[in-house]
Amino acid sequence: MKPGWKPDHVFTSSEYGYEAIREGVRSLCERFPGEYWRERDRESAYPTAFIEALTEAGYLAALIPEEYGGAGLDLRAACVILEMIQRTGCNGAACHAQMYIMGTLLRHGSEAQKRRYLPRIAAGELRLQAFGVSEPTCGTDTTRIATTAERDGDAYVIHGQKTWISRSEHSDLMLLLARTTPREESAKPTAGMSVFLVDLRSEIGKSVTIRPIETMINHSTTEVFFDGLRVPAANLIGEEGKGFRYILDGLNAERVLIAAECVGDARFFVEHAAGYAKDREVFGRPIGQNQGIQFPIAEAHMKTEAAALMVERAASLFDDGAPCGAEANMAKYLASDASWAAADMCMQTYGGFAFSTEYDIERKFRETRLYQIAPISTNLILSHVATHVLGLPKSF
Ligand SMILES: Cc1cc2nc3c(=O)[nH]c(=O)nc-3n(C[C@H](O)[C@H](O)[C@H](O)COP(=O)(O)OP(=O)(O)OC[C@H]3O[C@@H](n4cnc5c(N)ncnc54)[C@H](O)[C@@H]3O)c2cc1C
Repeated sequence: MKPGWKPDHVFTSSEYGYEAIREGVRSLCERFPGEYWRERDRESAYPTAFIEALTEAGYLAALIPEEYGGAGLDLRAACVILEMIQRTGCNGAACHAQMYIMGTLLRHGSEAQKRRYLPRIAAGELRLQAFGVSEPTCGTDTTRIATTAERDGDAYVIHGQKTWISRSEHSDLMLLLARTTPREESAKPTAGMSVFLVDLRSEIGKSVTIRPIETMINHSTTEVFFDGLRVPAANLIGEEGKGFRYILDGLNAERVLIAAECVGDARFFVEHAAGYAKDREVFGRPIGQNQGIQFPIAEAHMKTEAAALMVERAASLFDDGAPCGAEANMAKYLASDASWAAADMCMQTYGGFAFSTEYDIERKFRETRLYQIAPISTNLILSHVATHVLGLPKSF
């Protein structure tokens, strides 16, 4: 089977609905085949043309309400967009944050902030792709961030350092979490943090320094240093000190959207493995005739479809405005597990050819590994389910 081969479409039960979006994204993605992604990967380059095409087609404005120039679609539709991007071999990591960051601005931003930014984001004039939470010293314990924002007249002055901030070089705006009250002076560790919509454009090279981090995948991720950045007080989202809650609010959508990407990756691997196993002949018969090859493919398919149902359930609850924290976390865990297992299975099915870059299997294998760790690592999800869903004693 030649590299660049397209798998048969395996239509699954969790795919009903949103056919127009599914087909629209699929045909857009066909303009960006494996060679496009391999070239970006080799050069560690941002897929600008792909992002522009998605923006032009309106997909990145899916969650922006129509009154602000967006498509006003629900989370299930956004899931379909990201799933299809991954499933066709493209990489939504270059743009997914614009979808999930939006939630914080939509739910907690003022009317003036929404009117000022959303129509321009929807029109593709501004990019809101950067999400500044992680820091080098605190890891997953976000309550210990050290970046501070101090009020000075009609502005806040930001000092500190963020790490793993993806797409910051390709984004005009960043949603930034900083401490406005020291942890020890706050009513509880999660209080005293605030969220700002930061306009990076004129400050890079002045009060903002960005340093790319070399990584095993092409993810445009960076360290960002703030040295006296002045952010207008008008760009504070919601109330001072409540930022952690606002960020948490957006996390359910983030988990569900990333889980949908993982389902897309897993389907990519299953469809490619099945196609390759039918085609590749060794010992005078297709390798897929051996149960040692076909059973792992079938197993990966079943795990993927089970995860897809949980993603769908979580997205539906979110769209209905119902509590969905447990389902969003479980969807992320199950889908990232399914995609990683499918990636491993696909590598094994392709044998030595899996290592050849021209088949795109090794690239997707590297890319999907991320989701065991970011945006939230599997252990932290297990801990959430154990303590928040099952009521077991907290370990930290
Ligand atoms: C490519 C990439 C892109 C990223 N993009 C962004 C971005 O755009 N914006 C942003 O803010 N962040 C981003 N991140 C950061 C990402 O969200 C974190 O890496 C992730 O949340 C894990 O945090 P950590 O790396 O600090 O791990 P740590 O918190 O140091 O944890 C290390 C390991 O220990 C485990 N662990 C820690 N505490 C416990 C515990 N109590 N019980 C059991 N296990 C535990 C974790 O599960 C993990 O496996 C990105 C990361 C990567 C790698």
